[in-house]
Amino acid sequence: MKALQELARKLLEDKTVSVVIGYEEGPHGVRPAFITKPDQADRLIFDPRCVHNLATFLSPRRSHLVTLGKKAVVVKGCDARAVAGLVRETQIKREDVVVIGVRCGGVTGDPMGDGKLTEKNVAPRCAVCDVREPKLADHLVGELPPAPPTPKGPDMVAKLDAMTPEERWAFWQKELERCVRCHACREVCPMCFCERCIADKSMPQWIESSAHPRANLSWQMTRVLHMAGRCVGCGECVRACPANIPLGLILKKVAAVVEERYGYRVSDDPSVPAPIGTYRLDDKQEFIL
Ligand code: SF4
Ligand code: SF4
Ligand code: SF4
Repeated sequence: MKALQELARKLLEDKTVSVVIGYEEGPHGVRPAFITKPDQADRLIFDPRCVHNLATFLSPRRSHLVTLGKKAVVVKGCDARAVAGLVRETQIKREDVVVIGVRCGGVTGDPMGDGKLTEKNVAPRCAVCDVREPKLADHLVGELPPAPPTPKGPDMVAKLDAMTPEERWAFWQKELERCVRCHACREVCPMCFCERCIADKSMPQWIESSAHPRANLSWQMTRVLHMAGRCVGCGECVRACPANIPLGLILKKVAAVVEERYGYRVSDDPSVPAPIGTYRLDDKQEFIL
């Protein structure tokens, strides 16, 4: 991807930024790359294996990265929503980051595969994508590739919706039983930026730290509610989960509820306020007795 490499080289040469965060080929597939010197820019690549949401490296929670100085970050359209989220929630200033948008033809969900997109390996979010050309970008690179294939398989959210509350409860209890409380879902998430997570607090302890069904349920329900109207649907938590818990299903359901009740869909425009930080007189509030 020559245009991306040339742009990165230029941004580093003229000292617009001190680091370009992008993707490179690693020993085990594609991995995030931190390019700090112009002559390293040739390492940058972009292809359907570039699944990581690099906006997570902008979060102030990763304070060890502050020493890197001003950053440029390579984003797909879906990742740009996370940059917008961080700006919207005043975690970063828009002018402090150079956003390099890449036109995208979908990702596989597996940075270690052969990068060939099929209806079996395409990330589910790509099927409904309307941001293949990121809008929140200072620079846009690449030609727009053909649209990704449509994933095969049942609509699991609809399947869960069709269940009785008891069946759904049993489904989630069984799934969350496998959680090992590694918190990888939190660590990889661009929108999990609290300096101290409620799951780590011990005085008082809000959520038990050991991995047992009650604590796991409490942990994941808390995290999912904290993501309401904020989750950008990048699927990174699902990819990171070693227990293969289908976290994406519950996040998708919560996003649908937020859209239905507040008419809000997570936006890549930081000036569009999210329901969590706003109050409207016509907000539905029949649950307040
Ligand atoms: S959701 Fe859209 S922008 Fe994101 S990886 Fe899929 S096709 Fe690309
Ligand atoms: S909760 Fe998961 S899908 Fe949502 S923004 Fe965080 S990592 Fe991405
Ligand atoms: S990544 Fe999976 S196993 Fe680890 S805490 Fe999150 S849900 Fe549990």
